[in-house]
Amino acid sequence: MPENNFAPVCIDGSSGEGGGQVLRTSLALSCITGKSLHIENIRAARRNPGLAKQHLMCVQAACGISNGRCQGAALGSGVLDFQPGAVQSGDFLFRIGSAGSASLVIQTVLPALFFADKPSRVTVTGGTHNPLAPPFDFLCETFLPAIAAAGFQGDCRLIKHGFFPAGGGQIAFDTRPRQKVRYQIVDLCEPGREFQIDARIYTAKLPAHVARRQEKLLLQSFPEIQKVEHIEVVHSDGPGNCVMIRLCDGGTTVFTSFGMKGKPSQKVVREVVDLASDFLAGGVAVDRFLADQILVYMALSKAGRFTTNELSSHLLTNIEVIKKFLPVNFDVDRQKQIYTISCRPC
Ligand code: ATP
Repeated sequence: MPENNFAPVCIDGSSGEGGGQVLRTSLALSCITGKSLHIENIRAARRNPGLAKQHLMCVQAACGISNGRCQGAALGSGVLDFQPGAVQSGDFLFRIGSAGSASLVIQTVLPALFFADKPSRVTVTGGTHNPLAPPFDFLCETFLPAIAAAGFQGDCRLIKHGFFPAGGGQIAFDTRPRQKVRYQIVDLCEPGREFQIDARIYTAKLPAHVARRQEKLLLQSFPEIQKVEHIEVVHSDGPGNCVMIRLCDGGTTVFTSFGMKGKPSQKVVREVVDLASDFLAGGVAVDRFLADQILVYMALSKAGRFTTNELSSHLLTNIEVIKKFLPVNFDVDRQKQIYTISCRPC
């Protein structure tokens, strides 16, 4: 199927983490480089391997922004051939049709749209607050400012909340063409010193005592919290609950845990408090989720560095996928439990 003169980049989707990120990073970089992609064993390490709705939407979205063509784009498919065309700006609407993460579809097309000649708008319907994916608040408050520092600028808006498993939410993301200013790179090495710490509790279609209980537990187990905001979502297709701790010191790091039927509020609160406390004790600037998500932007800048506490399998896998498309290397320097990750051309 590939029609350009280059052999396709071949990716084994079972390598490393073996999940959806291998596919998303491959699609994003295929669009940017124009290199065709052959990927096998898609999400082979997951219980439900192959393309799920969110991943299929990522493929269709990559086709949509690049006038691309593909074979193997079907639910459950484990093999995909993708041939991008030229990336074009536009006003795009992608409907996942499940509670699949809207943030992750946005993250697939975002890198390429920053290189289009005009601004774009991407609107995605699906889940906006899903376990195991970036919730809207993280996308908007943690991820977006981190990449903006490297010249990738945009705005995002939550149009409707969509909680797992009902979905039905909507996010709109506006991109502007990248302004390449010298010295604009991801440089997130210094840990925050003076944090303002607050919490946010979302509930939808749940009894009022849930949020009251979670607020009480939060303040008991994490007295540094200065303010708790409760957002009761009225327009939601189904029930939902998540608890966030926001650490603000110029940048904002958002940690989230999700409530679900049968999961006690103690456990929900404990999870998010542990995430935030570990980060505060870690003496680094970047949490484990942002760490794997900013690598692509560092690679596109052929520069950048950050400190983090963990070499997650998402992070290590993403580095390997990126290196298949772009002539960059990532160096990892370890001082006790602090890792400094930096990117350079090779
Ligand atoms: P699957 O695992 O089913 O293939 P997936 O397509 O969602 O699912 P993963 O490869 O697991 O893909 O990638 C999940 C992404 O979501 C990672 O980039 C990870 O950093 C991010 N993520 C997960 N949980 C959070 C969270 N609480 N906050 C921010 N980002 C998160």
